[in-house]
Amino acid sequence: MDPSEATRNIPTSSSPTRVVLAIAGSDSSGGAGIAADIKTGGAFGVFVATAITALTAQNPERVAAIYPTSPAALRAQIDAVCESLPAHAIKLGMLGNPELVRTVSDFIRDQNAPVVADPVLGATSGSTLWQGEDPATLYKELIFPYATVITPNLPEAAFLLGENTATTDAQMEDQARALQAMGAKAVLLKGGHLDTPLATDYLLASGEYTPQPISTPRVATRHSHGSGCSLATAIAAGLAQGLTMKQAVAAAKTYIQGALSHSARLALVPDNGPVHHFYSYW
Ligand code: PLP
Repeated sequence: MDPSEATRNIPTSSSPTRVVLAIAGSDSSGGAGIAADIKTGGAFGVFVATAITALTAQNPERVAAIYPTSPAALRAQIDAVCESLPAHAIKLGMLGNPELVRTVSDFIRDQNAPVVADPVLGATSGSTLWQGEDPATLYKELIFPYATVITPNLPEAAFLLGENTATTDAQMEDQARALQAMGAKAVLLKGGHLDTPLATDYLLASGEYTPQPISTPRVATRHSHGSGCSLATAIAAGLAQGLTMKQAVAAAKTYIQGALSHSARLALVPDNGPVHHFYSYW
């Protein structure tokens, strides 16, 4: 372990702690969703407040049941947090249904803090995390216009665009541009699903036309549960701490690469186990 890596983003005791508000679902098995958000924030030295969109009865193998929060209960959580804590960045994970997308949209449209929106519609285990009418239209109209950055993976991007999944760098660049045209200021299109030696994501930053490839060595592991949630929260943590988008994405990618590299050490389940959020510490 490189101790400087573990502590690189931790504020000194005299600086006010930065807060990320995570609006996401709970994964009862602790690897993804809100649990991943809290752990990732902990690893980055930011304080994570939460507004839970749904309880999922879930483990790395399957989502057994989804119990959505009511719109009023979600809004009450958000308002209670914002009444007393400053949200320096907002992370959106599983929203789950159209009513909750509308509730979240009503909130984020008035916010100045950066919004990192992970358009989560399903789990790697194959189960859906969405109930209701066409999520693509709802996300495009109600979430993306208020997002500082969106973080789709390749299947999510293809779904949102109504296109085939990108398989080449040129297609990824085109899809990143097409997604940005839907209203988000920046797009991080994650290439983790491609079978290439490097895990290359494309970041199309605000005001830029050419998406920049950001590559890290691909980690060969069976255990990546919660990696998408954690990446988005790591970006939110960096933005909350004042990093630029490019710096925040680079730091988040490095963190996830470590969390994936060490996931097998948790030795919890044979397949699709969670990433190791605290790999720098234990
Ligand atoms: N469950 C919840 C509640 C989530 O928010 C997410 C986030 O992406 C997932 C599951 C996805 O898990 P996985 O990383 O296995 O796709």
